[in-house]
Amino acid sequence: MAEDSCTSSCAKFFCDAMLGRLALWLRTMGFDVLYERDIDDKALINRAISEERIILTRDTALVKRRILRHRFFFVHNDLLDEQLREVLGRFKPCRERFFSRCLRCNLLLTGVAKESVAGRVPPYVLRTETHFSMCKGCGRIYWPGTHTANMKKKIEGLLHG
Ligand SMILES: [Zn+2]
Repeated sequence: MAEDSCTSSCAKFFCDAMLGRLALWLRTMGFDVLYERDIDDKALINRAISEERIILTRDTALVKRRILRHRFFFVHNDLLDEQLREVLGRFKPCRERFFSRCLRCNLLLTGVAKESVAGRVPPYVLRTETHFSMCKGCGRIYWPGTHTANMKKKIEGLLHG
């Protein structure tokens, strides 16, 4: 999908089965991140190579596969915040991409008119919010609420802390 290809230097990732939470946070920052809990190593590697993705992994056996060459980034830490620091220390996120992606599907969100989400979001949200976006994959509606503000704070802390 052309609209889903990141224009600048944003890296594309494939998180291994141990890094599901990391995958979600990277999606929050707008990175193109695949994550499939039950995928086997061979399928993961093949897909990462064909889609030019960097494999984020905690798996020491996986990174020894010669076919991988340098197409991986080994995550040393078990703690999520430290994992994020490791990845962000190497790969810079594009700020304009923050909160632009469906956390569930990894697809880019599309802006939708307020009128079109009536009945699909809680009434108080419809009253108080003006900007809505939608995922074409799962139909989930997103809006900038308190959750996003908290996430933003955490991300800024990670980028500057
Ligand atoms: Zn979605």
